[in-house]
Amino acid sequence: MKGLTKLRKEILKLIENSEVPLCADEIFENLEKKPNLSSVYRGLCYLEDKGMIKSISFDGNTRYFFMATEHSNHYLYCKTCGKLEVFDICFADRIQKELEKKHDYKILDHIFYFVGICSECRKK
Ligand SMILES: [Zn+2]
Ligand SMILES: [Zn+2]
Repeated sequence: MKGLTKLRKEILKLIENSEVPLCADEIFENLEKKPNLSSVYRGLCYLEDKGMIKSISFDGNTRYFFMATEHSNHYLYCKTCGKLEVFDICFADRIQKELEKKHDYKILDHIFYFVGICSECRKK
């Protein structure tokens, strides 16, 4: 946390306290003092560079940011409204050993997500 500007600390805190990954717009909306959006982007870039956060994109545009230390990287992504939910079941352990052997690979991490349509969107 040393050497972080106030804004970057605040961004990090928002990401840390959120159950689901957040996009830059959501982070911007939740910041107390509104900086400009580009300094939010710069802050996110910086934090990702430093390995404190990671990001993922589900639709090829919006990036969602989460803590690098977190292991709940299992998401349901609604392709209609963009809502994210976290789920707890992990399949990785079951296939990891087999993959490592088959591909002579050391697996370090994984992100797992399903794309679908949430219950709210299906009602419409
Ligand atoms: Zn939805
Ligand atoms: Zn997992």
